[in-house]
Amino acid sequence: MNEIEIYEVGPRDGFQNIPEYIPLETKLTIIDGLVAAGIRHLQITSFVSPKAVPQMKDAVELAQLCLARYPDMDLLALVPNLRGAQTAWESGIRHVSTVVSLSESHNRANINRTHVESQSDLAKILETYPDLDICLDLATAFGCPFEGKKNGEEVALFIKPYVDLGIRTVNLCDTIGIANPAQVRQTIAAVRQAYPQLDLHIHIHDTRNMGLVNTLAAIESGVSNVQSTLGGLGGCPFAPGASGNLATEDLVFMLQEMGYPLEVDVQKLIDLARDQARLIPGGNYSGHLFRVEDPRNEHKN
Ligand code: ZN
Repeated sequence: MNEIEIYEVGPRDGFQNIPEYIPLETKLTIIDGLVAAGIRHLQITSFVSPKAVPQMKDAVELAQLCLARYPDMDLLALVPNLRGAQTAWESGIRHVSTVVSLSESHNRANINRTHVESQSDLAKILETYPDLDICLDLATAFGCPFEGKKNGEEVALFIKPYVDLGIRTVNLCDTIGIANPAQVRQTIAAVRQAYPQLDLHIHIHDTRNMGLVNTLAAIESGVSNVQSTLGGLGGCPFAPGASGNLATEDLVFMLQEMGYPLEVDVQKLIDLARDQARLIPGGNYSGHLFRVEDPRNEHKN
């Protein structure tokens, strides 16, 4: 069994879909709880224009507070462009993700960039910040509402210029939850064959209730770095029909039950997901375990 690294992305991917501003204190309460439960990789925010995403207007302050509180944690942020990368760097963040959609129509809808523009944005970031650890988030890697299904060969062909630019990590994102386990295996095999040295991550949405099976298919294909959000909080405002992410606590529960050695306290995660649903009542949650009495739960809530 491969050693799995859980990347909790809720404070970015989940919170960004909440229209009302979540107070900084509430964000920190959830981040503290995630760290206390044993999460070690945490995407905390996104350095975007506050006009575009007002929820992330506290990105600099949040990042600095988290870096001071958790200097040994792997704290990541999303950056859409060179300006975002600059703010991230100046805030002390050294690990970032940047997004491009496999589907050009989705790329325009999501970040208002053509593929050519996205490539040149990334080239500028890599050139300006050679010491920044950059992961390429490949959105709609399995299909999109505008262009339909995509296969592994298309993914492999698409990422070539990014690999040539120096990208070493690619996160395959099922942005609208359209993938199936056979497709996940096929895509990973095709990308592996083309770039054996590439570090692959997986980010699956639970839109069609296939979050767990698709993530497990990726894990059993050798992917060790897996993204999810507490409570399954999430969605995608620009992908019609896209609901929540895969819930971290559901994923951890399944993997631990299967015998994967994960040093994460699943009960703490479940309790925290309940707190989060209370603190952020307007959220779109796809998680299951936090709604029911968990078999491992010894105390009654
Ligand atoms: Zn997501």
